[in-house]
Amino acid sequence: MKNNELIEALKKINVFCTQKELDQLNKYFELLITWNEKINLTAITDREEVNLKHFYDSLTLSTIVDLSKENSLCDVGTGAGFPGIVLKIFFPHLKLILVDALNKRLNFLKVVCEELGLENVEFIHARAEDFSRQNREKYDIVTARAVSKLNILLELCTPLVKENKYFIAMKGRDSEVDLCDKAILELGLTIEKKINFELPYDGGERNLVKLKKTSKTNKKYPRKFSEIKNRPL
Ligand code: SAH
Repeated sequence: MKNNELIEALKKINVFCTQKELDQLNKYFELLITWNEKINLTAITDREEVNLKHFYDSLTLSTIVDLSKENSLCDVGTGAGFPGIVLKIFFPHLKLILVDALNKRLNFLKVVCEELGLENVEFIHARAEDFSRQNREKYDIVTARAVSKLNILLELCTPLVKENKYFIAMKGRDSEVDLCDKAILELGLTIEKKINFELPYDGGERNLVKLKKTSKTNKKYPRKFSEIKNRPL
């Protein structure tokens, strides 16, 4: 989708893109393309496709939770900053925590935040399971896009979520939620809402799953990654 198509599509999901945000997206795109020549950030480099599959797609999260009412958002396995950076551009009041196991991606994200003037962002170079173990019940919204299977992701991310707040999974064609009954129960989660939709411009099917943390997660989670992987919940 072209820039004007992006702006129109965002309006339909109640996201309003002013010149300031558009300038920030333009700068973000330029940095993404330049850095992508040196370090592997994304396979999508065409502007129209980035608009659709990175920028618009990231913002669909705001259709399942009112981010204007939340204080903090932790993006686990943020990679090149999706959805975290895009959400921060449009909801600048959020305290943003970007977690990734690869330091070179975080170095890119630091430059992006500096160049775009995004403040109140933390860059965490760690494996999600380690970060999660040490930062229990800390964030309002925890999310992850394209990081791992949902049952694994739930164990990695749920400890980070404050009680009565949310983990939101951003999934493609399959939400995988039907396979996660046990993990959902065991980790203290309740499914609050599921949304299935098509991205515009034939961008494909997407699923958002909003899980409320209705009770504290047992301290035994997250387990060691080898256990999570070999014996998933
Ligand atoms: N969320 C981004 C990136 C997806 S690629 C997007 O949707 O475009 C997955 C990213 O998760 C990679 O950058 C990888 O380094 C990171 N990752 C995978 N497993 C992780 C883990 N256990 N802890 C921290 N980061 C992890």
